[in-house]
Amino acid sequence: MSGMLIRNLGCIVTGNLDNPVRNVESVYVEDGLLAEVGSTTTTADTVIDANGLALTPGFVDGHTHPLLGGFTPRQNALGWCESYLHGGVTSMVSAGECHVPGRPTDPEGLKALAVLTGRSYDAHRPGGVKVNAGTLLLDDDMTEADIEDASQAGIERMKILFALNDVDRARDLVQWGRERDITSMMHCGGSSLPGTDNITAAMFEHIRPDIAAHFNGGPTPLPDEGIDRLIEGTDMVLELIVGGNQSVAVDVLERMSERDELSRMQIGTDTPTGTGVISCGMLLEMSILAGMTDVPAEKIVALATGQVADHHDLGTGVVAEGLPADLCLLDAPMGSQADDAMGALDHGEYAAVDKVFVDGELLVDGSRNAPPAKRPAIVE
Ligand SMILES: [Zn+2]
Repeated sequence: MSGMLIRNLGCIVTGNLDNPVRNVESVYVEDGLLAEVGSTTTTADTVIDANGLALTPGFVDGHTHPLLGGFTPRQNALGWCESYLHGGVTSMVSAGECHVPGRPTDPEGLKALAVLTGRSYDAHRPGGVKVNAGTLLLDDDMTEADIEDASQAGIERMKILFALNDVDRARDLVQWGRERDITSMMHCGGSSLPGTDNITAAMFEHIRPDIAAHFNGGPTPLPDEGIDRLIEGTDMVLELIVGGNQSVAVDVLERMSERDELSRMQIGTDTPTGTGVISCGMLLEMSILAGMTDVPAEKIVALATGQVADHHDLGTGVVAEGLPADLCLLDAPMGSQADDAMGALDHGEYAAVDKVFVDGELLVDGSRNAPPAKRPAIVE
């Protein structure tokens, strides 16, 4: 057994919206799992002096477009997942592997694509990141038998990326998925790809997917009236992303906070896309939302970690005993007027990503992408 003690923590930002901060000084990790939160253990194979930094869950990017490994054909780039790890991301959710050149348009091809990508990422973590992929792109020609096939093949997520011509069929596909515990996401707002059409609030009200993907636009949001209808008239999960309209994101977050409905929110990047590869995209979106609203940074962190994991049943995203030690040590960046990581986010700045762990393994010791910490933790 290999044990790791992280001591001298400033606090733990838990990733749990209901209890977002715990004033705990140490955690003990054993065999990749959080064994003790508020540890009484004093020695271990590895001891890290956190130097007062905040321990958070690794970020869970709720909206990515992986394909295979660290390759993204949309930006013709390699190694993007590892770059995101250096932005604090330890897990990702695929909103569809739609960027494959020559993307299939028939049910058999789309199912095969989802199975291939899902299996590939199950067997391989690019840069160490847990990529939850194999998201079935839905098509008008699919039937309940196709959804059953997907379920039997282990598919756990589906996505309506384009406006389907037959909204009744789309509604049925979502329902058939729901009966098989397949989570449904639906593109929200203006078209993002040539040859596709807008998806309107009326379509959402009819089809009723679980998650309104990029609710603040990907990149173009619904008209204001449509945003009102989905906030007030549905209980869907509303996702905010960095590749969308930030004025709308700030407004939606404030309204959902006032309604005491932050449990319906999550954060993602919606990258790599035409918007680009944004290695610190989760930090960027968190800093915008924390800096420009009154919602405290520790709750914003929960929207970027535990909330995503909860909506997708990932079994990570919170600092709790028994869960994988997918963790970050964060600080205020050098030069910041803030004293700590949450202070930096509340001020509208990136937090410094000092260390990142996946399953208790130290994978980042000084981020190559996020700014450096004021007082780095020390591996003793
Ligand atoms: Zn997307």
